[in-house]
Amino acid sequence: MAKNKKYVYYFGDKKADGKSEMKELLGGKGANLAEMVNIGMPVPSGFTITTDVCTYYYDNKKKYPKELKSQVLAALKNIESSMGAKFGDSKNPLLVSVRSGARASMPGMMDTILNLGLNDTTVQAVIKDTNNPRFAYDSYRRFVQMYGDVVLGLKPVDKHEEDPFEVILDRKKGEHGFKLDTELSADHLKELVAEFKVAIKEKTGNSFPDDPMEQLWGAVGAVFGSWMNDRAIVYRKLNNIPAEWGTAVNVQSMVFGNMGEDSGTGVAFTRDPATGENKFYGEYLFNAQGEDVVAGTRTPLPIAKLNEDDPKIYKQLEGIRKNLEKHYKDMMDIEFTIQQGKLWMLQCRVGKRTGFAAIKMAVDMVKQKLISKETAILRIEPNQLNQLLRPIFDLDQKRRAIDEGKLVAKGLNAGPGAASGKVALNAEDAEEMASKGEKVILVRIETSPEDIKGMNASEGILTARGGMTSHAALVARQMGKVCVAGCGSLKINYRERSIKVEGNDNIEIKEGDYISIDGTTGEVIRGKIETKPSEVIQVLISKTLDPKDSPIYQTYASLMNWADKLRSMNIRTNADQPDQASNAIAFGAEGIGLCRTEHMFFGGDRIMSVRKMIVSDSVEERKKALAELLPLQREDFAGIFEAMKGYPVTVRTLDPPLHEFLPHEEKETMELAQALNISVDKLKEKIESLHEFNPMLGFRGCRLGILYPEITEMQARAIIEAACDVAAKGIKVKPEIMIPLVGHVNEFKLQEEIVRRVAKEVMQEKGRKIKYLVGTMIELPRAALTADQIAERAEFFSFGTNDLTQTTFGLSRDDAGKFLPLYVQNDILPNDPFEAIDQSGVGQLVEMGTNKGRSTRSDLKVGICGEHGGEPSSVEFCHRTGLNYVSCSPFRVPIARLAAARAVVNETVSKKGGKKATKSKNKTASKRKPVKKK
Ligand code: PEP
Ligand code: MG
Repeated sequence: MAKNKKYVYYFGDKKADGKSEMKELLGGKGANLAEMVNIGMPVPSGFTITTDVCTYYYDNKKKYPKELKSQVLAALKNIESSMGAKFGDSKNPLLVSVRSGARASMPGMMDTILNLGLNDTTVQAVIKDTNNPRFAYDSYRRFVQMYGDVVLGLKPVDKHEEDPFEVILDRKKGEHGFKLDTELSADHLKELVAEFKVAIKEKTGNSFPDDPMEQLWGAVGAVFGSWMNDRAIVYRKLNNIPAEWGTAVNVQSMVFGNMGEDSGTGVAFTRDPATGENKFYGEYLFNAQGEDVVAGTRTPLPIAKLNEDDPKIYKQLEGIRKNLEKHYKDMMDIEFTIQQGKLWMLQCRVGKRTGFAAIKMAVDMVKQKLISKETAILRIEPNQLNQLLRPIFDLDQKRRAIDEGKLVAKGLNAGPGAASGKVALNAEDAEEMASKGEKVILVRIETSPEDIKGMNASEGILTARGGMTSHAALVARQMGKVCVAGCGSLKINYRERSIKVEGNDNIEIKEGDYISIDGTTGEVIRGKIETKPSEVIQVLISKTLDPKDSPIYQTYASLMNWADKLRSMNIRTNADQPDQASNAIAFGAEGIGLCRTEHMFFGGDRIMSVRKMIVSDSVEERKKALAELLPLQREDFAGIFEAMKGYPVTVRTLDPPLHEFLPHEEKETMELAQALNISVDKLKEKIESLHEFNPMLGFRGCRLGILYPEITEMQARAIIEAACDVAAKGIKVKPEIMIPLVGHVNEFKLQEEIVRRVAKEVMQEKGRKIKYLVGTMIELPRAALTADQIAERAEFFSFGTNDLTQTTFGLSRDDAGKFLPLYVQNDILPNDPFEAIDQSGVGQLVEMGTNKGRSTRSDLKVGICGEHGGEPSSVEFCHRTGLNYVSCSPFRVPIARLAAARAVVNETVSKKGGKKATKSKNKTASKRKPVKKK
């Protein structure tokens, strides 16, 4: 490492070494503190130790680079002169906070220490300076407790163990008959400091350090150490944050919000983070420290009230709010402290928001001309659209429940949406219940970072304590969970595993009982309430709401409109029924990319004809059974062609292993034997003969149509007859017939010949010409490797990445559930390759197949119809690889539209030489060939 490398960045006195673009090095908090100083905001002086030091620390057995010490001392000197105080000084001591700050915000996951620099000497100076011994000893007491907990490791080991400091605190209150901490006097707090120190010595064998410098290095080490604590690791995994990023450490001079009634502290968002509404949103407390606002131990006041309580400060904050939005062009989350009438900004960062709010803010900011449409598109993670498509309660049922007196409480509407499920009173139980397939509502007095896995497993989160910025509210919003927070009338008893309601002794909700929470209104209702579609669904699908009456729909529509103008890939859908096809069109699909004909075989009485076809002993018998199926398939296809109104429809010929259609129950076997007029034993023998050891690699795909050409004949006839019939009604049709599981061009040729022969016959019979294509799925590695040969015959390719993943990894789709989750958990694979395409492996085959295919047929149309077609990182990959379309399930169509637009914007950003604007789930990127929309 080079000598004199800069590891410490100072900020204060209107000048800062860093700036907001330096997040990788300074972490989000450090970079934004520097930026606030640069734009003239009042920020207490401090310095940031870079993330490089964290990397060095872990690479070098938890040692620091040797230059660090002198740089820290120099920066400390700068703080001292800017604040007019001295670290460890007996007359005018400087006190500092030590906080983590990673590149991406990880709220509450790492450690913080406040009031550092206090000891028995400096506390006397604070008393003298403030003339407030209670304040001084309360600060000292909090510091020793925090330091003992974070640096010296004196914290409860699990949920059953009590916090040793809380035990001492409760004992002290008990001795004096106090209920609240605020009843303790300066002398009591002084005693507590001594008792805490004794406990530390007893439990750890180490004395509490009095030397401020030793305190500082201890705290810095603890913050770097907290990068690798369990909850930070879990959080990073959930949020795709690489461990290599590391955290920075911010050391900043303390300002106090608990110095009396002219002091206070608060947190705020420049817009409403739950709904996206453009109004100043936040809460504050007078005479309090920051932790009091977020911990939920005191209920804070809404920020608008500050205008009455202290109009001067409110006006100053309003100005800061406007400037921050103008400067950052985004919704910001701020923390501030008022110390004896002076406002200080302690933090600003881009605010977390619900998907709902993200979409509204992005659209509003475009309309305010604050950001471009492209930026708006990049601001929204495609999966956040789910929140606009999320269910709401059936209003009649909800009203009835309320009329029946089931409304038990009301809290804060912290995360919109409706959820109903069984009560779990701790996170571990929630996880366990959810793993058994139950819908769970996690109910806690308050949540802490340890609860994130349980929160993630739950449908919704309900807390008794805490405001809109409490841990539960922040994390739930980020996860897109329904959340009602701060529901103070709930008396949650963990020991008795029950919830009672203040003022209503008759109500008792036990763990496992159903409750329903409305995260849009804050209502908590006993029992189960059915949920129903969101407004967007009501406009688009059930058509029960007029778009004019739904601002939410209008916002959605603006965004989708911009996305459609930007994207170059088409979005199709996987649908097998006319109603699915119509839904997909409502969501913006531009064709069907996969119609799995076998799904139609299960409708009505068809399965009997299918079974007859499978067990037939002769071609004649099989043809007889197929003749029964022909009119039914024709009807299906006609319905789909009509619904698709001239969009292309890709119909796949029969694909799955035949055993999937055979009877498994005795009763069904008997019925089939009867229909076939053969004995049950003979039928069982036949079924037995069809058994395969590895059916996914067995008699399936085009192999079926090659051995039994009459199946392909029937299906081709049904498709073309339906196309002719629908065209006769004046409706455009564009059939694309797709042959599955081709591994060799000769397989394709055989099937193509059948299709073309039958199509010709049908068109002659009907006296009508239909334009159609014959193409193939690419879902075997051999098909990708020989794609140039296959493309000489096939008019289009559709990557079946479900099978291609299965066959590339040699990983059974149906059996991977036993071990694949473990692979992901242990980072053997970065993610489930059946969910997000494995870009460096399977992706190479997609790229090779596309390029080779186009080398022999330059206008080859290429798409994807595996499940990956609706997964955002895979959609971006498909764009870069030059695919013409992705095809996904109807409800994922809006997500794919947005992801395809983001791909274009990201590409422009990276071409301009900027960094990639969004994280990709997978690592390998390939070059994209431009495609035109078709
Ligand atoms: C695929 O394999 O990706 C595909 C779409 O086909 P299926 O899932 O029906 O095998
Ligand atoms: Mg397949």
